[in-house]
Amino acid sequence: MRRWGVALSLLIGGTLAAQPPAGQAPAAPAVAPVQQAPPAPVTIRAGVVLDGRGNLARDVVLRIENGKIARIGRAVGKATYDLSGMTLMPGWIDTHVHIGWHFGKDGRMDNRGETPAEQALYGAENAYQTLVNGFTTVQSAGSPSDVELKNAINRGLLPGPRILTSIRQINERTGGTNRQPATPDQLRDAVRKAAADGADLIKLFASASIRDGGTQTMSDEQLQAACGEANGVHLRTLVHAHSAESIKAAVLAGCTQIEHGTFATDEVLTLMAEKGTFFDPNVGLVLQNYLENKPRFLGIGNYNEEGFAHMEKAIPVVLEMFKRALKVKGLKIVFGTDAVAGAHGRNVEEAIVRVQNGGQAPVDAISSMTSIAAASLRMGDRIGTIEPGREADLVAVTGNPLTDITALRHVAFVMKGGRAIR
Ligand SMILES: [Zn+2]
Repeated sequence: MRRWGVALSLLIGGTLAAQPPAGQAPAAPAVAPVQQAPPAPVTIRAGVVLDGRGNLARDVVLRIENGKIARIGRAVGKATYDLSGMTLMPGWIDTHVHIGWHFGKDGRMDNRGETPAEQALYGAENAYQTLVNGFTTVQSAGSPSDVELKNAINRGLLPGPRILTSIRQINERTGGTNRQPATPDQLRDAVRKAAADGADLIKLFASASIRDGGTQTMSDEQLQAACGEANGVHLRTLVHAHSAESIKAAVLAGCTQIEHGTFATDEVLTLMAEKGTFFDPNVGLVLQNYLENKPRFLGIGNYNEEGFAHMEKAIPVVLEMFKRALKVKGLKIVFGTDAVAGAHGRNVEEAIVRVQNGGQAPVDAISSMTSIAAASLRMGDRIGTIEPGREADLVAVTGNPLTDITALRHVAFVMKGGRAIR
């Protein structure tokens, strides 16, 4: 609403000010980009509301105005959407996906020969799958095509989650010359370039892939340069790190979030808690998805038999590490799946494994995918909780996820920015 107001006043002001002198052709008038009109006010009645911070309320009505939660009160009268038998939560947030990854025409991850239009449409399919299954915000880590997808969704007509993207990934050689390791200055340049290109965050590889053993690949000095520069331009850093050494180096360098953490020791888990580093252990979806879809990946890059053996061995290792992580006081465990081709739309499987196999309390799993995830994105004042003033990003499931976490699979209602999607 406000955006329209500004755009219209600029337009009117611009038209009056831009009268060309006599004899000159009038310039094309400045117009605002086409954008969907704001949604009409609605009310939602919910049997149970989980606010995203661990609180529960029963029989509640939410009034939604201008895409935001305007009021929350006792249920009286008839609501636009009656979700009496359901559990309503803030829209879920996945802090680590690869929204563009897809299986191509032959059903394999090999996307060679695809046109940009084909790739764009696969990305749109992933975005749709993700949104209708309850995820109203995702962080993609990240590829250049994310930018067009994000812009298309933001125009308001293509259904998809809010997207934040790193646009690209930075490793120990990014910006280096002749395939040599990058100097700290070259890495600082790479961070500034990503910022200038509009990246919402920086994605770093501090360690090798789990398929290659996961040892530290960026030096301590390189991590200090990259995360230090990112902090200077107020960008968060999402760091892929499997080995304990790579995690420790990233945390001490002031990076903001660690991904995977397969070989994390109690010492580095405690260090993350002390430094306030967000931790996203991917225990339930990414490796399982690779194994389930092995023929679709096998033979491409490091997706070889040895790589698959590493991934299979890592599943119980990550789970054991996750159980230790749950015991570390103050550790900010955040929800992320590393969803790649085959996993989009199944993101909640990560939460189900964290609860059923890892022993996380269901209410904590839900907070990790709502308020904690929003805080990790520095968007806690806009999304991740149900309270007045927040975006009306909402998801409802049948059943009670506090007593049976698999209820998260039964999404019956999704709203993003006040617009009902499902
Ligand atoms: Zn990833």
